[in-house]
Formats: sequence, structure tokens, C-alpha cells
Amino acid sequence: MEWKTDALVIRAVDYKESDRLLTLLTPEGKITAGIRGVRKPKAKLSFAAQPFCFAEYTLTQKAERNTVLSAYLYDSFYGIRTDVVKYYAACAVAEICDLLFIDQTDARAVLVAAVECLKGLAMTEQDGVELLVTFAIVALQESGYALDLEGCGVCGSELGGEPYFDLSLGCFTCGNCAQGVRAKKETYEFLRKCSGLTYEEVDFSESGKRALRLVRSYLIEKTEEEYPCLGELIRLL
Ligand SMILES: [Zn+2]
Repeated sequence: MEWKTDALVIRAVDYKESDRLLTLLTPEGKITAGIRGVRKPKAKLSFAAQPFCFAEYTLTQKAERNTVLSAYLYDSFYGIRTDVVKYYAACAVAEICDLLFIDQTDARAVLVAAVECLKGLAMTEQDGVELLVTFAIVALQESGYALDLEGCGVCGSELGGEPYFDLSLGCFTCGNCAQGVRAKKETYEFLRKCSGLTYEEVDFSESGKRALRLVRSYLIEKTEEEYPCLGELIRLL
């Protein structure tokens, strides 16, 4: 059986003498596929075996193993390699796609959000942290862990100056309900901004880093994975 699919390389591991094993995010979910001979000098398909390669892949399946036969490149997001923050933000996108459970039948929204984020990182001067948080919000939503950013998640009131964040429920809570760990109103407003919701213009100078810390803690809580690239990015900021 041979088929074509759009896919983004979210992981590439060396395998055998000159092959690689790829984890591909496709509109239908994540798949693993081998790609042969790509570590030989002058290998025609070496571009298709690099992390962040976004291409139309032609695959074949034999005994339940997928093999890449050819690929038509859409984008390799070269620009992310010119800046260390952009590079780690891109690695965090791939890491979240890899470690977060994503519906195995419909990953279209996550794929679109990942490609949009990488494009923004590679080709624009937009804030990399904001782009990454925007992607993470979509990925969390699509995997069933949507953040609740509509006021206090317990009593429904508007959030005042000293909110809390409940890691198990994925919501902020007000000072009266005080459920979870202490958080900042600015982080809440920043997350609303990245979600495309209305938000208060507050001082966002520390909010990107705080929002990433909150997202990482929440990801760890939900998936029991460590997210080292995201951790490294937070250290860099
Ligand atoms: Zn409350």
C-alpha cells in the first residue's frame, strides 16, 4: 500500500547504518516511519529526515512498518536556526507534539497550529514566547486538557489581583476560592491574549516566562513527562 500525506517531522532518530526513524505529525495523528540511506553523503532525501521538515510524504506500509519513499518539501523553517530562543521554542513545539496525547484520528488542528507557530518563528519578528504559548493552548485544547480562562474556575467570578492556578483542573481561581498555587493576574491576561480572547492591557514584561512555566507545570501534571526543551527555553529567558 502506498499513500501520500502532509506531515511535520517532530522527531528523528538515527537507526541502522544510514537510516533514520521519524515521528511524523500528520492530519490523521502521529505515525512512525523509517527513511532509508538518508545519512549517506549526497542522499537525495536527507532534507526529509530533519526535524521540523514540513512536506508531503509518500509512504509505503509493509508488515505494519511505514517507510518513506519520497517527499515534496513545503518548508524547513530555516530561520529558526538563526536565534537560540527561536530554536528552543521550535524544539518545544516538536516536544509538545511528541509527548502530549493527540487524538490519533484527527490531529489537523494541532498540525496547522504547529506549522503556523514554526512559520512565525522562522519568518517574522513576532515574539517567540507568545507564538509558542499560542500553539500550546491549541495543543492542550485538542488533547482534552483545555485551559479554562473564563474567570474563576470554581465560583465563576472575575479574577482580582491575586489569583491562583489549579494544576489538576487547568483553571485559575479567585482569591476567595484560593484553590491551587499562587499565580499572577498578568499571566492570566497574557494567556487570554494568546488565546485570542479579550484581555486587559497590563505589564506583560515577565508574563511570557511565567506563562511558559505555568504551561510546563500543567503539561507535566497531565502527562507525567518532563519537557526538557521547554525547561531549557525557560532558563534562557
Ligand atoms: Zn472563585
